[in-house]
Amino acid sequence: HIDLPGTVEHFRIILDLITWFTLLFLVIVILLDSKAQQTEMEWISSPPSGWEEISGLDENYTPIRTYQVCQVMEPNQNNWLRTNWIEKGDAQRIFVELKFTLRDCNSLPGVVGTCKETFNLYYQETDSEVGRNIRENQYVKIDTIAADESFTQGDLGERKMKLNTEVRIIGPLSRRGFYLAFQDVGACIALVSVKVYYKKCWSIIENLATFPDTVTGSEFSSLVEVEGMCVSDAEEEADNSPKMHCSAEGEWLVPIGKCICKAGFHQKGDACEPCGRGFYKSSSQDLQCSRCPAHSYNDREGSWRCDCEDGYYRALSDPPSVACTRPPSAPQNLVYNINQTTVSLEWSPPADTGGRNDVTYRIMCRRCSWEPEECVPCGGNVGYSPQQAGLVDTYVSVVDLLAHANYTFEVEAVNGVSDLSRTQRLFAAVSVATSQAAPSQVSEVIKERVQQRSIQLSWQEPELPNGVITEYEIKYYEKEQKDRIYSTVKSRSTSATVNNLKPSTAYVFQIRAFTAAGYGTFGPRVEVTTKEEASGTTATIVSSEQNPVIIIAVVAVAGTIILVFMVFGFIIGRRHCGYSKADQEGDEELYFQCTKTYIDPETYEDPNRAVHQFAKELDASCIKIERVIGAGEFGEVCSGRLKLPGKRDTSVAIKTLKVGYSEKQRRDFLCEASIMGQFDHPNVVHLEGVVTRGKPVMIVIEYMENGSLDAFLRKHDGQFTVIQLVGMLRGIAAGMRYLSDMGYVHRDLAARNILVNSNLVCKVSDFGLSRVIDDDPEAVYTTTGGKIPVRWTAMEAIQYRKFTSASDVWSYGIVMWEVMSYGERPYWDMSNQDVIKAIEEGYRLPAPMDCPPGLHQLMLDCWQKERADRPKFDQIVGILDKMIRNPNTLKTPVGTCTRPISPLLDQSTPDFAAFRSVGEWLDAIKMERYRDNFTAAGYSSLESVARMSIEDVMSLGITLVGHQKKIMSSIQTMRAQMLHLHGTGIQV
Ligand code: AMP
Repeated sequence: HIDLPGTVEHFRIILDLITWFTLLFLVIVILLDSKAQQTEMEWISSPPSGWEEISGLDENYTPIRTYQVCQVMEPNQNNWLRTNWIEKGDAQRIFVELKFTLRDCNSLPGVVGTCKETFNLYYQETDSEVGRNIRENQYVKIDTIAADESFTQGDLGERKMKLNTEVRIIGPLSRRGFYLAFQDVGACIALVSVKVYYKKCWSIIENLATFPDTVTGSEFSSLVEVEGMCVSDAEEEADNSPKMHCSAEGEWLVPIGKCICKAGFHQKGDACEPCGRGFYKSSSQDLQCSRCPAHSYNDREGSWRCDCEDGYYRALSDPPSVACTRPPSAPQNLVYNINQTTVSLEWSPPADTGGRNDVTYRIMCRRCSWEPEECVPCGGNVGYSPQQAGLVDTYVSVVDLLAHANYTFEVEAVNGVSDLSRTQRLFAAVSVATSQAAPSQVSEVIKERVQQRSIQLSWQEPELPNGVITEYEIKYYEKEQKDRIYSTVKSRSTSATVNNLKPSTAYVFQIRAFTAAGYGTFGPRVEVTTKEEASGTTATIVSSEQNPVIIIAVVAVAGTIILVFMVFGFIIGRRHCGYSKADQEGDEELYFQCTKTYIDPETYEDPNRAVHQFAKELDASCIKIERVIGAGEFGEVCSGRLKLPGKRDTSVAIKTLKVGYSEKQRRDFLCEASIMGQFDHPNVVHLEGVVTRGKPVMIVIEYMENGSLDAFLRKHDGQFTVIQLVGMLRGIAAGMRYLSDMGYVHRDLAARNILVNSNLVCKVSDFGLSRVIDDDPEAVYTTTGGKIPVRWTAMEAIQYRKFTSASDVWSYGIVMWEVMSYGERPYWDMSNQDVIKAIEEGYRLPAPMDCPPGLHQLMLDCWQKERADRPKFDQIVGILDKMIRNPNTLKTPVGTCTRPISPLLDQSTPDFAAFRSVGEWLDAIKMERYRDNFTAAGYSSLESVARMSIEDVMSLGITLVGHQKKIMSSIQTMRAQMLHLHGTGIQV
């Protein structure tokens, strides 16, 4: 052992490494190495006098075995030396390396002619050892070997040995083994070493594939293709299986394809290692393990994915590399707009998209009954534009809803993981009531009678009347007329006769229906040709441009006829007849109509005659009483069914006269029927008939499912749209127009005396002569002696009993106020005396909450002191129709209606300082039903309530929009008052 200085030490390490590498990549397998053999080799020498085995030392003085021959003096030498049998193993190409010395013949005196300087190398292939005889002809010659160097005599006479090295290759070999043979033909040779080997590519790992030891090919130029095997936890890359090529030189060449670490594993050196905890590798294609994405975790090694945290999900299409996500929160700021039977919804995106950008929206539509509120899915008859689900934009229109129906819409934001989540759905919801819709088309038109100058048509009511049809409009024109001038005729029933037509002329007719919601669309065109003029008739229709003289004549004749009609009507039938001017959508035309006049039953001497003049006597067997629904002045009011022979049975209300009645009571009771029986209008309750010839005496009236209007509104406080409320008012006004046209003064027009049916159609009821005095609990005796419902009655009627249609208009204004305030008591709890005083001093009721200013103006007009200044019912109907047709005029500018217009009107705005608790405040605004909702959410003080936003109110579970508005509006006023009173610093 020698201590070497540092640099030399390094040098040695490098040398060691080189040796190690050489060994590692030593590509040869030795079959025979004579130098390695210490003992005798015992090769066969023939003749035995030829080659001889001699021990010697190599250049390093290591003992070696050599074979020598040196028969240079003798001619014709043929000395063979044969190795032992060498088993070839896997080898196909064998390398033979010879180290030898060869004497230069020149250095040998006296050998000229016989001395040789080469020897021959042979081999013989056999499958096993073959005995000791050498059969020369069985050997195949490999080469003649000559020396590069030979022994030479040194200058000083010493022998210098020059060692030659020659390598020869044999193959391809096909037998199990072989012999090598050396033929000497007279040279002086020392075979110092014989090494036989073949080459091999050693097993390696390349690209994560193991390639086994591989023997080189048989040909020098051949490459052996070898398939690699993936190391554990690795897999072959798709369509790229690992291959290498073993060259003849024992080198691996041309690697193709590779293995890659499986999902969950990553490459470290030549192996695949599992990903650590909190990491994953989703695919073999990925190189590295990655940290778990947001909201996911794993606690195992070797994971290909991470699991989502609770409440978070991965959509099927989500790769493991993206964060886990969750369903979005509910859409925000859901607003709606109702246009008849179409509801448009708009909203803002949810505050939390759940971490995804694939948020869409879906709509759930439910139709709800009024009471109890039970909702069922809307089904397929409802349309959605653009669609019901998968909405990308934040709006939708829901069409083809039913008129006058209550709907709930839920708007849900959904994303790719919504359907995976089992948590509660989050949605924004609104409850909406559809308003009236125009009626659908009139389609089935029948030609009843076609004459020369007139055509009678009849038709079916439209399939969807969406309300009560008060009128039909028949539009017609001459088919051949170039500039197509339309004429119109109106009819209250489903038939009409169009007169003043030309004979043998084709006319085109179209019909549309009218309800409180306006006109429906015209039905299909119907072509009818008038009959030919009978021969001999010369009358010709003259166009107005043709002959002014004739026009005057025609007008004069028409005027005379009208006059005759009017006078005749007045005398015989108490009917008004006249031309009315109608103005619809700009077409102004005249139409002829007749109106009956109301006859006071008191004028009949025999009240029984009056009843039978106006009311049909019904057979009691046709009436089935089902249950009691109310109490009237003369007896119980029941509901039941009426089945008249040949007609469908209908629901009816039956007013009964209690037993033990006096004759006067009977007369008064039946008086109502005598009055009601004279009326025939969709907005006036219809009398079916009376039972006077049996007991009990009954008045049978059409059944109004929703009962009286004041109670109905109080029950559905805040639940209707303004259009719906105006639709109701329009109906009442139309009924009153009809009554006033007939000359009937109601005297007790009030919401309690209006009945509402299931279609929200309002009808005027409660007719009677003495009823105002006796029946109405609101009626009180006044100084003028009569009993009067003070709050509803015009001043002149209170003061000097001047009851007219104009005083009915005053009452109608009060009904408007009742309707718009959902059945609030006019003038609240003021005393009748105070009301009279206030009215005299010029005070009027303020606009109810959320009341469009136009409507309040109409109320104020109805309460004009001078009765002549008040609008007529006809005008009121027109104004309301215009409002319904232009719903924009009904928009309420926030705060305009709640502002008091006089000290009296302050009563509409409660003074919040007066409330001691949230409960008291809720009582005052009639929202006490939500007391528990406020308490549960922790709103215990008025201060905390004053800070509430509309979202806060909604979050209490108050879903009715009308109630939300009412509460919010009151909160805003409360805030303003608090700010003013205490400067509380509440943000307004
Ligand atoms: P009246 O005697 O007309 O004031 O009727 C008494 C009560 O009976 C009313 O307040 C209604 O609630 C009910 N009622 C009267 N007529 C009808 C009707 N035609 N349909 C349904 N309910 C009615």
